Order: sequence, then structure tokens, then C-alpha cells
Amino acid sequence: MPVRLKPAMMRLLPGVATILLLSLASAATADQPSKPDAVEAEIARLKKAGFPMVDFHVHLKGGLTLDEALAMSRRTGIRYGIAANCGLKFPIHDDRDALQFIRSLKGRPVYIGMQAEGREWPRLFSKETVAKFDYVFTDAMTIVDHRGHRARLWVENEVDIPDKQAFMELLVRTIVGILNNEPIDIYANPTYLPRMLAAQYDQLWTPDRLGKIIHAAARNGVAIEISNSLRLPKPAFIKQAKKAGVKFTFGTNNSNRNLGRLEYCLAMVQVCGLTPEDMWMPKPDGQKPIQIKRLRKDQQ
Ligand SMILES: [Zn+2]
Repeated sequence: MPVRLKPAMMRLLPGVATILLLSLASAATADQPSKPDAVEAEIARLKKAGFPMVDFHVHLKGGLTLDEALAMSRRTGIRYGIAANCGLKFPIHDDRDALQFIRSLKGRPVYIGMQAEGREWPRLFSKETVAKFDYVFTDAMTIVDHRGHRARLWVENEVDIPDKQAFMELLVRTIVGILNNEPIDIYANPTYLPRMLAAQYDQLWTPDRLGKIIHAAARNGVAIEISNSLRLPKPAFIKQAKKAGVKFTFGTNNSNRNLGRLEYCLAMVQVCGLTPEDMWMPKPDGQKPIQIKRLRKDQQ
């Protein structure tokens, strides 16, 4: 059933209204796959305007095969970057496995991404191997916490937060450290908070804390992912980052076969007034962060 929002409400809540309309349009497609809808029209419009319509955060997970992903890409008009999780205690944790993953995608119409995991990843792979990926991204969802423990923030029994403000300061320091020191192209799953803090996102992510991250991203030329699955970051962060000259990517970070159609990202383009010039694309060989960024001694 079509839902009409009053013009006054659209003015008051442009972001919410756009997201709502795109979500409704998305739900409608499942029933009527052949009928063009608002999401399809928006993807076509942005492509025409020169936006690179790429989802750089797709995993072959939950049984999703490359051929299925490519069929989806042809249907949706969205290109994919297929990424492997690479790091300590992950199936891909050395050059040999990483090179095998690259070989499995070579020659197919996708970008090949490395999702670097944990903070020790620069020591696990050679520069030459990392440079064979089209791009590298990481997030700050695995940190070394106040006890000195390696904590995955999405795993509840690994997370210990006796003091919220101290945790936020540690998280900001970790993110800024990643942006300053790790040779990455994109900061993914940005501003993610553990579940126990998620409801206080707006209070905990103060303008000062967001500003430190934006400043470090701008200074280091690291792009920021707009995450479709997490619906992060929020518009205030994106607008402030755009002003600072930071570039953006779209990313789904699927945990199953459902890739969606970047609905939150499309909404953020409108809400934050993004243009094609605000979007990031992979760097040519010789200009990748792994090839030009100087690493700190302890990471070599
Ligand atoms: Zn991922």
C-alpha cells in the first residue's frame, strides 16, 4: 500500500522520509520484481549523474556464490567489490591464502578487496601481496581494551566497559591510530558501538570525538564507508566529513545472501547532498596506501 507523507513532514524530517520511502519501495520489489521502483530509478539517476555505483563491502557468505552475486549485479545495476576477511584467526591469514583468493576472482567483473582484521594484520601479509588487491579496508571493531585484552566489540562476552567515557576515549584513540598508521583505503563500519552502548550513540559520539576521526581521515586520505547494514554513520558525521574533503564509499557488509540495494546509502546521498566528487574509487597501481604510506617501525 502506498504511504504518502505530508509535505510538512517531508520538510521536517527529510532524512527519515527518504529512508522510509526507499525502504517501502524496496519492500514492494520483492512482490513485483519486474516493476521499476524508486530504488531502481534512484540508482539509474545517480549513475547518469556520474556516481560510481559500487558496493565495496560484499562477502561471499551464507552460501552466496560469485555467479549469484554477478547475476544480482546485472539486475540491480550495482557493481560489487568482493572482499575477504584477512587476519589473525581468520581462514585467510598469510600470503598464500590471500593470493589464492585473488586468483579465484581474477578476470571477473568485480573489484577485489581485502578486509584487514585486527590490529596485527600489517605483519601477517607482505606489501607485494596486499598491493595485488584493488583496495584494503578495516574497521575498529576489534580493539585492545583497557585490560589489554583483544576484544571484538560485537561479541558480548569479550566486551568489558566499566566506564563509558573512558571506553569512548580509547575507541577514538584506536580509530585515529588506525587512520594514521595502517595502510588502508577505507575505514569501514564507521562509528560502530557495542550493543550495550548503541542506544546512547548521539550522546557518546560528541562533535569533538567525531571531529578527531574526520580530521585523521582527511589528513591520511582514508575514505569512509557509508554502511548499508549498520545504517552508519549518521548524517551529521557525513556532512562534517564532506566539508573536510573526506571521500566516501558505499558498503553492505552482508552476513548472508541478501545484498539489498544500498538503500541507506542512497538516502544519505540525498540527505547530505553528496556529489560524484565526494565518492572514492580504487587507486591505480603505485598509488595505493600500502605502496606509499610509511609504516611505523613496530608495524613493519
Ligand atoms: Zn565485512
